[in-house]
Amino acid sequence: MRVLIIGGGAAGMVAAWRAASAGHRVILLEANGKLGVKLRISGGGKCNITHDGPVKEVLGAFTKDQARFLRPSVHRFTNADVIALLRREGVETYTRDNGRVFPADRPGSAAAVVAAFQSLVERAGVDVRFRARVIEVEGRAPTLRGVHLEDGGRLEGDAVILACGGASYPETGTRGEALGWLKGLGVAVRPWFPALAPIPLKRPRPEWEGVALREGRLWLRAGAGGKRLADFAGDLVFTREGISGPAALELSQAAETARRSGAAWLGYASVPGTPEAVDLALQFEMKDNPQLKAVTWLKRVLPERLCEPLVVGSGMPAEQRLKDLPKAGRRAMVAAVTELPLGEPGSVNLARGEVAAGGLKLEGVDPQTMRVKGFDNLWACGEVLDLDGPVGGYNLQAAFSTGYVAGELG
Ligand SMILES: Cc1cc2nc3c(=O)[nH]c(=O)nc-3n(C[C@H](O)[C@H](O)[C@H](O)COP(=O)(O)OP(=O)(O)OC[C@H]3O[C@@H](n4cnc5c(N)ncnc54)[C@H](O)[C@@H]3O)c2cc1C
Repeated sequence: MRVLIIGGGAAGMVAAWRAASAGHRVILLEANGKLGVKLRISGGGKCNITHDGPVKEVLGAFTKDQARFLRPSVHRFTNADVIALLRREGVETYTRDNGRVFPADRPGSAAAVVAAFQSLVERAGVDVRFRARVIEVEGRAPTLRGVHLEDGGRLEGDAVILACGGASYPETGTRGEALGWLKGLGVAVRPWFPALAPIPLKRPRPEWEGVALREGRLWLRAGAGGKRLADFAGDLVFTREGISGPAALELSQAAETARRSGAAWLGYASVPGTPEAVDLALQFEMKDNPQLKAVTWLKRVLPERLCEPLVVGSGMPAEQRLKDLPKAGRRAMVAAVTELPLGEPGSVNLARGEVAAGGLKLEGVDPQTMRVKGFDNLWACGEVLDLDGPVGGYNLQAAFSTGYVAGELG
């Protein structure tokens, strides 16, 4: 069979290698001048390839529906399989304490991962076409006939595999246009939606840029003092426009959903206790240690750069001592450590996400084969599917596993 694969990223390279190894004539169409551009910047250039542990745990990181969909493919090409394959290709890996798997530490390790997959693709005899952006697919259900390229070219194929990724970081080649083609073919899609992205704040604190809040929990509420909607335990870092870091990335999709529905508010708990318990502890401290400065009390939990502005910002002098702490000041101090108000989020930018949520709806794809339902020669894999895992190597594993199965053309 002559197989056209659209997209030479994580999923497309694996699909191409698989299909060509089975004897198919494979043409891999990549819009960029090189393969795996997004892979090269993944994990800050280090590439968190996958997540260690039993397959069940890997799947457990996804939503229930996504996990159910991924189960057959991740069992077919597991995290252990990815690691073993890379080792055979000369890329040793190591696992961090948090289960994240990286290539053995050296500069440009993400590039080594790309080189390994590229070598597999080339050795399998795949015809790789660079700067070949597909602008349209030709045909209709149940059979596609080929694709049209931006340069005016047209290619015929017996099979088409969509591996063109999501819609974040468009500068890496992923512009998300496949959803338009799919809609035109009558395939159900969910519009792209931001995920794993920094969260801008309506009232950012640029003066705190670079300050990190550690080992706490970011809360998303439906408005100040409103119902708790979601939370994530992890670090957070202030940026010029808002917040970033693991906790912000993980809550960005929920924050954007809440913002669009009209009420969203964020706060960061640096200590796990309830406001009542922390208030009680502060009152004991006021008795035991009346000369202690409010700033010093805050510094036990919060980064130094935040403490004086928080004290002054809540109407107290910088030198405020605990002995004559006003009631409003006490409340503000308790809030600062139990739920530091970050306020309303601004609009989360789809382009800055480590993944894009949305894509080809999973119910429209056979999870055993990755074939798009209603078609006899169209498959899809990777981020173009409505899949979005958390940070931790899960998204690449999903791309590798679905790419592997799609490449079997079952
Ligand atoms: C900054 C950043 C860091 C990340 N870090 C990690 C990490 O450490 N671990 C992890 O698991 N995940 C990480 N991810 C997510 C991960 O990179 C993606 O989920 C994964 O690359 C998706 O694989 P894919 O093959 O589906 O898409 P991609 O890797 O994006 O590949 C799609 C390819 O298709 C090409 N293409 C698109 N449209 C067309 C077209 N019309 N014609 C021809 N070619 C086209 C694109 O140029 C691109 O090369 C990160 C993402 C970003 C943005």
